[in-house]
Amino acid sequence: MTDFKEFADVCNQIEHTAGSLDMTEIVSEMLLSVSSEELPVVVHFVMGDVFPAWSTEQLGVGPSLLYTALSRSSGLPLKEIENLVRTTGDIGETAIAALKKETRNQATFSSFMDDTPSLSIMEVFERFNNISRTNGKGSQTTKIKNLQYLFNSATPEESRYLARLAIEDLRIGVGEGIVRDAISKAFNVPVGEVERGFMLTNDLGLVAVAAKEGGVEAVSKLGMELNRPIKMMLAQVTPSIETAVNDLGVVAVEWKFDGARVQIHKDGNNINIFSRRLENVTRSLPDIVEAVRGNVKADSAILEGEAIAVDENGNPRAFQDILKRFRRKYDVETTVREIPLILNLFEILYLNGEVLIDMPLSDRRDVLVGCVENSVRLKVDDQVLTDDVEKVNEIYSAALKAGHEGVMIKNPNAPYSPGKRGKNWLKKKPVMETLDLVVIGAEWGYGRRANLIGSYALACFDPDAGTFLPIGKVATGFSDEQLAELTELLSGLIVVESGREIELKPEVVFEVAFEEIQKSTNYESGYALRFPRLVNVRDDKSPEEAETLERIEGIYLAQKSRS
Ligand code: AMP
Repeated sequence: MTDFKEFADVCNQIEHTAGSLDMTEIVSEMLLSVSSEELPVVVHFVMGDVFPAWSTEQLGVGPSLLYTALSRSSGLPLKEIENLVRTTGDIGETAIAALKKETRNQATFSSFMDDTPSLSIMEVFERFNNISRTNGKGSQTTKIKNLQYLFNSATPEESRYLARLAIEDLRIGVGEGIVRDAISKAFNVPVGEVERGFMLTNDLGLVAVAAKEGGVEAVSKLGMELNRPIKMMLAQVTPSIETAVNDLGVVAVEWKFDGARVQIHKDGNNINIFSRRLENVTRSLPDIVEAVRGNVKADSAILEGEAIAVDENGNPRAFQDILKRFRRKYDVETTVREIPLILNLFEILYLNGEVLIDMPLSDRRDVLVGCVENSVRLKVDDQVLTDDVEKVNEIYSAALKAGHEGVMIKNPNAPYSPGKRGKNWLKKKPVMETLDLVVIGAEWGYGRRANLIGSYALACFDPDAGTFLPIGKVATGFSDEQLAELTELLSGLIVVESGREIELKPEVVFEVAFEEIQKSTNYESGYALRFPRLVNVRDDKSPEEAETLERIEGIYLAQKSRS
């Protein structure tokens, strides 16, 4: 049994380490030092996660619940906890400061006072499991009690990382890239194999256990499994149709539908549907489930497509309507009637026990066409193979005329690369490009808008460090109604408040239009946006799917070369 104290010490050490190679070394040593049971837990913990991305388990601890638990554990009033958050700017430091205060319940102070660790890593995980599993009436109390137990058993160093883990924001800069390299180093498995295992399982914990127990051989045997969603392949922007055709030669062209991506797992008659954020949305989409059941001729399959909402004439409706469908969990029938969905399938990744992602797209497509019976609700989308720029332009115009976003230009010879945004899928849309950025902060308004959250601080994503880098603010163009909606959406995510300034848990993604990207020393990303304005709230996207710093740099350079 490894003490949680050892994990906390490693986090502390990493927090004071700058280079990613050194961080990888520290993480790899820790992976070697823990048992097989502890290994997956440590792999997720060190990235600030409690459960793997594909899992339906969710901790569901927001800042305010955590403050209450800290208040109860320390005996300090809630207001004082909030003050500490404001002054320290960090929930971890708040936990230490609060629990050190004298009012702390005398019966529970032993670990804290004499620094003797009593918590094991597995015990912490068990408590988090209790928190995740409780629901319904009384669940808040159960969550708080479990957190209280953890804080009452923790040493100061442990409480810092417990508090941060509870809101799944560890802030030590370890992301998937570092953990992947650390697994490779610790268990002597080539990094490419670790990456492949990760792509297929979507779970670095599983990959680490395989690497520890069976080395490269066991890792290479890891595969996709039904009902464990994998990350979806993503598209890059192409500056023009001509460039795309020049780069790829013969291209596979499809309409880019303005809808929501779904990954469908069919296991006999059991159908599960996952959103782009890998949330299980099956309950909200009974019509799609029915259509898949009736029209996909396969014992088992994993398919992908774009669900679109249509009006009575079959024309696409606003993106917001689809989100309404996806969000709805109760009284689903009414929304199903009000907002009918159509599913356009464009991928098959798995069929009757066979993983297909290494096949070229054109072969996968043949398989897809072979097992789907097109109907009004569900069809394989049309695809044209061509190397003629004019032909692609025609398809593009037709897609726009039909109210869709543009075209997808795909490499017909390419495999499916989970989670990758590469040159094998290109997208062409007419409008000025938009950026998907994470809201990391905001400000309370003035006067009439004093109770509304506005002026949103935006950040891009650094996938290696798993951190968000500020890039600017969007403040104009909001109606009062929109601000009220956003205030409701964001107020549960407040981490620190200081005067009118708010720090938010990075959770919500804004799609933002802009005039230009500029170099800037004002923001940590090194860039700023000129004239940013909100286009959409993308609650189909997770914060990790926001633009990467690399892409921001790419757009900046492309912009420069055009001017
Ligand atoms: P974006 O969200 O702008 O990065 O564009 C990629 C998204 O376009 C995918 O995740 C899909 O949700 C959507 N999409 C619409 N039509 C297609 C298509 N024919 N093939 C692939 N993706 C599509």
